[in-house]
Order: sequence, then C-alpha cells, then structure tokens
Amino acid sequence: MLLAVGSELTTGETRDTNTGDLARSLSGTGVDVLWISALPDRLAAVAAALSGALAAADLVVTTGGLGPTPDDLTREAIAEVLGERPTVDPELAGWLRHLFERRGLAFAETNLKQAWLIPSATAIPNERGTAPGWWIDRADGRVVVALPGPPGEISPMWRDWVLPRLHERGLGQERITRSYRLAGIGESAVAVLLGEELLRADNPTVATYARSDAVDVRISAVAQAGRGPAELVEEATASVLAAVGDHVWGRDDETWQAVLGRQLAEHVWTAALVEAGTGGSTTRLLGEAAWLLDARTLAADDPTRPLPSLAERARKEAGASIGIAVRAVETGEDTRVELAVAGPWGVSEASQTAFLGGEEGRRRAAIAAAAFLHRLAKEH
Ligand code: ATP
Repeated sequence: MLLAVGSELTTGETRDTNTGDLARSLSGTGVDVLWISALPDRLAAVAAALSGALAAADLVVTTGGLGPTPDDLTREAIAEVLGERPTVDPELAGWLRHLFERRGLAFAETNLKQAWLIPSATAIPNERGTAPGWWIDRADGRVVVALPGPPGEISPMWRDWVLPRLHERGLGQERITRSYRLAGIGESAVAVLLGEELLRADNPTVATYARSDAVDVRISAVAQAGRGPAELVEEATASVLAAVGDHVWGRDDETWQAVLGRQLAEHVWTAALVEAGTGGSTTRLLGEAAWLLDARTLAADDPTRPLPSLAERARKEAGASIGIAVRAVETGEDTRVELAVAGPWGVSEASQTAFLGGEEGRRRAAIAAAAFLHRLAKEH
C-alpha cells in the first residue's frame, strides 16, 4: 500500500510521482501493490488511511510529511495508529544540529521533530535532506516505511537502504509479464472473449488496457504451489491466444512501425503510401521507416476516385513492392475508412467504420490501415 502525504498533492499543485515510482519498483520485484492514495496534511485523514492500509497489506510505504513544520504530520499519524509515543533520538538530534552548524545556520528547536523516533522505528539515513525516514518492524511481521517528499531524496534511500532490507525479508518474488497487442477489436469485446474467469484470476493475472495504438492484454504471474511463473504465464497465454489470437499484431512494447517493418523485411518488400482525409495520421503512425519509400497526404481528394488506382499509382511512382491507399470520410459521428493495398498478389480492398469522427477517427483510420497491411503481409 502506498500513501503519498501532502496537501500540495490533493490540491493538484504538485503531481504525485513518488508512489508511481515506488509502485514500479515494487511491481518489478513481484510485489502486488493493492492501493495507492494521495492524502492532505490532516492527521485524521492520514491516520485513517494508515490503519486501513495496515489492516490489508504486509508493507505500507508513505512519502512526504516528514518536514519540521506542524503541517508535516506523517510521524504523528504513524505514532497514533501504532499507539506509540515519539521521543527525540539523541543521535539523530546530534546529526541534525551538526548539519545546521556546518552550514552556519541557527538551529530552531522545531527542527527537533525531524529527530523523532518511536520505539519500533529505525531511522533511514537521508544523505540529501534533513528528514530521515522511518523503518518500522511490527510484531506481526508487517513493515511500515516512511520516506520524505522530495523525489531526489527518496530514490537513494529506497534503492540503497529500503529495498535491500525488503529483499532480506523475502518480500517479492520473480514476476514474469508478457503483453499481446491487439487491433480491430475494442477493449470491452476483448474482455468478453477472454471471459470473467481469466480476468478475475489472481495469479496469473490477465488484464486489458486500451492504449492509443492497440488494446493490450497483459499476462503476469509469480510462482505458486510449486509452479514457476513462466509455466503459469504459458498456460494463461494459451487461453488468451485461443480467445483473441486472431487480433494480435505485436508483443510487449512493439510499435506498428517495428512490426510492419519486420514483416516487410521478411518479404523483402518496400512500400509507398497515399492517404486522404486522414490529416497524415497513417504517415505519423508508421513514422520514418526505411521501408516506406514515399508517403503522401492528399489535401483534396475526389471521393469517387477508386482507391485501387491510387494504390497502384503510389506503388509505381515510388518503385515500391506495395502501394497503400487510405481514405477517411467522416460520416456523422464516425469515420468511414477505405483501404486498398496493391502488391505482387494484386489489389486487396477493405472498408470499415472507425469509432468517432475528427482527430480520433483519423487516428483510428491509421490503425485500421496498419492492421490491414499486417494481415495482408501475413497472408501473402
Ligand atoms: P523535507 O522536509 O525533506 O522537504 P517532507 O517529507 O516534509 O520532506 P514534503 O514537504 O511533503 O516533504 O514535500 C517536499 C517536496 O517534495 C514537495 O514540495 C514536492 O515538491 C515534493 N513532493 C512531495 N511529495 C511528492 C510526491 N508524492 N510526488 C512528487 N513530488 C513530491
């Protein structure tokens, strides 16, 4: 459970990046992050969130609220929830006074708050600031870690001090994750095909994500009951591919450009593109690919002109193996996408309706074109 404390977060003045960074680090070591919250500098709110977190998780990490001022109250909240009393730790107080002396600054007694400890806490040294963290071992084996707010202070504390200790506890285990990238199907339809059983399972987990260039299906597992994560991921993969394999065009963080580039390279094919009504979205999606010899966006296009002839012409003029023609036409709220690809096999045509009009429809038209090309390159 990750709690970011600070009213600057709940007012939106500062974006909470700390918990995301910690979540990424924890997930990478196989820890299942149950919940992330941002909280204002209010004792009751922080204490309530902490006790909720302690009831549900083995590890609770807070960031922020460790400064010297009265509104920095993460220490008070932890002490309250654990029923312990903070006292000034002489060693920390000495270190803190020394820091101020070194810089020739007067030491205000309010700073002593940063030297507080409770009996169950160990100070986490902070090389870059004046607020040490707290590492708290609970009798029930749970761990609470309190870190300051500034990301630059947190990262060495986390990496060099906290993570090695968490590893000693055996926290986290190897997690294997794999994603499949899908096109030509919406996220909700993917969910229906995958089915509740798969999507609700804890390990392996199977989840869908609607991204701008694909619907991703992510499969992730840790070892369980004597079976390794790879085996569990393989098993879930077989179910996922049986359900939605027809729509898969890529893996993990592959882009359309990379996947089409690989396919075309296998055929030793080059391509030329002409698009109309798309605002150049297909050219942008495919990027500066070496196999794309020419890419043109027609500002004005005669919508009655047959697309195959455009595709053929693009192909001939560029001297490419294949010519791709894409036309997007807004139809009320959606976009009609017409596609033609001229290749060594002849000309293939398709048309479909892309969800939404405007910029979103044009973006989807480009994906439809990429998916069509992908399918043709697979078939021929
Ligand atoms: P210190 O006294 O060492 O500054 P602190 O624990 O009192 O630490 P805060 O006062 O809560 O820290 O935050 C200090 C600064 O750190 C904030 O002004 C903000 O710039 C940054 N910060 C705090 N929390 C976050 C967060 N969750 N994500 C990103 N930045 C943060």
